[in-house]
Amino acid sequence: MDQISDATIAEIEDELAGDGVWIDPAFARNNDISASDEARIEEAVASAERSDLKVVLVEVDIQDERFQGSFSSLTAWLQDSTGGRDTTYVGWQEYSEPALQVDAYGDQPDTTYVDSVAAHEHPDDFVDQVVRVQELLDDGNADALWDEVPDDEKYSWTADEGVQASEVVGGVGIVVALAVVVAAIVAWRRRRRARPSGFTLPATVLHTVRSAEDRRLRQQADAEVLALGEAIGRGEPTGSADALAAWQQALDHYAAARSILSQDAAPADVVGALVLARRGEDARSSAQGRTSSAWEPGVRCWFNPLHEGRTSEVAWRDADREVDVPACAACAADVRDGREPRDILDFIEGDRTVHYFRLDLGPWSRTGYGTLEPDLLGALRSGGKGALRGRGTRGRRGTAG
Ligand SMILES: [Zn+2]
Repeated sequence: MDQISDATIAEIEDELAGDGVWIDPAFARNNDISASDEARIEEAVASAERSDLKVVLVEVDIQDERFQGSFSSLTAWLQDSTGGRDTTYVGWQEYSEPALQVDAYGDQPDTTYVDSVAAHEHPDDFVDQVVRVQELLDDGNADALWDEVPDDEKYSWTADEGVQASEVVGGVGIVVALAVVVAAIVAWRRRRRARPSGFTLPATVLHTVRSAEDRRLRQQADAEVLALGEAIGRGEPTGSADALAAWQQALDHYAAARSILSQDAAPADVVGALVLARRGEDARSSAQGRTSSAWEPGVRCWFNPLHEGRTSEVAWRDADREVDVPACAACAADVRDGREPRDILDFIEGDRTVHYFRLDLGPWSRTGYGTLEPDLLGALRSGGKGALRGRGTRGRRGTAG
């Protein structure tokens, strides 16, 4: 729905206090959820033993001023207004693609792989996924089930042709000393939408959203770095000099990402670890492929280095500078239409979100997470000192927002 009104929120709260299930009529229509489906979901919620389960099915619109397309923002709001009880919310979120989402608050069973397992088992039936969540939470076996899923079904980006699975080499014991400098300790928000000026989420809600999203991001980074380590452990480079060089890059990127995650990494660092892991995976894949050229890291979107897809160069005009930056298709379209891209990587500073490039995050902000500097590892090792090849993108330390 376009806007989740106060009246709708009151209705949701009423329903959650009753049978624990609220389904937006439009969502039910669009997703073929029948009355008997709803009854099944209510039954699952009623039978939940280990979790206090609530199901809220609605498409949170990207234009919704309060929640800006984020199911987690909605659950944080509900959580806040009900006084912070122990609750697990099940819903629907359109991120890179529509998907089941599970948000837990307080003392609840671990939800880490619950949504992944439910979606993997019932890819074509959303109601089955929702019902399966309750069983997984009660059985507590989502971790074990997820372990059994082959890597190439878990992470599409690990799918590759060249891996010889025969040779399993033990852990890659490489440690690279890295000086990772992170200045402002800020928190990460995965999704920032175009926010109407003058509107801000209440601080309590913002911080609840932050911690839920931080946890998810951390899980994603842990999973991708682990998968990279395993892929490296199973494989070996082809014989060419370029392949060996790419393999070394894969090892170095892996070690750097692991080193970051082995510490109590701030959200800005966790994003960095993800970027390093994806570069490392790209290098590994190149080292094991048939290409005969030197590996170069792929260019990523400067507005948000986690965006996928090809980039093109756009001129970005900020308050006091104009820079040429690579942008993914969606961000480039926004810039060319004279708009600020809707999903710029943001972190929380104080009680507001701030674009990452307006913060002093050392090499991360200075290199745009490597989007402006192919040698991201070099930038990290130099600890933020010295001039980098770049295009005048030194971030202002600031409190814009
Ligand atoms: Zn982008």
